[in-house]
Amino acid sequence: MDTIYMDHAATTDVDPDVIDAMLPYFRHYYGNPSSLHSFGAKAAQDLEDSRLKVAKGINARPEEIIFTSGGTESDNLAIKGIAYKNSRQGKHIITSKIEHPAVLNTCRFLEKKGFEVTYVPVDNSGIVNIEDLKDSIRTDTILISIMHANNEIGTLQPIDEISKIAKTNEVYFHTDAVQTVGKIPIDMEKIDVDLMSLSSHKIHGPKGVGALYIKKGVSIEPILHGGEHERGIRSGTENIAGIIGFAKAFELATSNLENNSKKMLKLRNHLIESVKKRIPESYLNGHQTKCLPNIANLRFSFIEGESIVLMLDMKGIAASTGSACSSKNLKASHVLESIGLQPEVSHGSIRFSLGKDNTLEEVDYVVDSLETIIKKLREMSPIAKM
Ligand SMILES: *Cc1c(COP(=O)(O)O)cnc(C)c1O
Repeated sequence: MDTIYMDHAATTDVDPDVIDAMLPYFRHYYGNPSSLHSFGAKAAQDLEDSRLKVAKGINARPEEIIFTSGGTESDNLAIKGIAYKNSRQGKHIITSKIEHPAVLNTCRFLEKKGFEVTYVPVDNSGIVNIEDLKDSIRTDTILISIMHANNEIGTLQPIDEISKIAKTNEVYFHTDAVQTVGKIPIDMEKIDVDLMSLSSHKIHGPKGVGALYIKKGVSIEPILHGGEHERGIRSGTENIAGIIGFAKAFELATSNLENNSKKMLKLRNHLIESVKKRIPESYLNGHQTKCLPNIANLRFSFIEGESIVLMLDMKGIAASTGSACSSKNLKASHVLESIGLQPEVSHGSIRFSLGKDNTLEEVDYVVDSLETIIKKLREMSPIAKM
């Protein structure tokens, strides 16, 4: 069997149709959209077509889409953009303990600049407690930033309820939906979100490109200053080829969402059930059903996730411990800690994130391999013997 890739929450392969869509923009249509000649006009036109495609995928208006260099920049732009613009109204921000580092570290940076941040806790399935959220709102609160779906455990947040609380209290609401696109339908006419982060490389698009949705009427301070591109909100010559690829990937992800999600959910449930049936002392981290269809974060007692990942890799299987961002340092995952797992317990966790092209045979092979690996590791583990 070929190698099996089950780390789609870290990044994905670029769809061949996306590559085909991008190539002419390197070879032929390399104009700068700001130029007056026909090279520029072509680039400007295709940039706007891409904006329309992304907007359409989430039922937004094209003028509400600002292209960025990816999810990290979109999170920074949303949070700093609102913070800087509204600092005279207040300097209090609310987020959750399980956000992506792009949100958490932006908030920590703002704390050093005089803002105050409340990090609301989550329950043991990873869901924000709505009462805690309500209680944390103050008269000087300007922004709530809570992710749509968590990248480590896949848990979905009740963003409808959160948006209502934000509206009632006249506070801006930002959500990081990087993991949600192509898995859960998003309709900006139905959810009341002010800002939403999107990224291309988690949905079979190229790396280094993404977007920030900014609801019509919401004004933010730019963090990059220059030639006033993207209506002055994000200066810098547009990454046309990347944006073309992102828009194509977005179109594919949103138009095939239902089929892909159904397929991935079936595989996810099969993986979880098979593991629980065949491997003793194995558990699911996160929520069984209020979850992305493609993430299964599994925990095995008495062993270390890193060893499992390395042994799976020797069998040609790519999975990850916690999140890719933190897997190089052996610090316990802040997400697993927030759902109440002690470091020595959470260490035995491993994240499988499925993609639209994974198959049932692959899942079965992964479960077979896991069974062998866990058994071997437990035989070597002194705590398992006790
Ligand atoms: C991957 C990811 C990001 C970062 O996006 P990049 O495009 O890699 O900068 C932000 N938030 C979440 C939830 C992610 O999974």
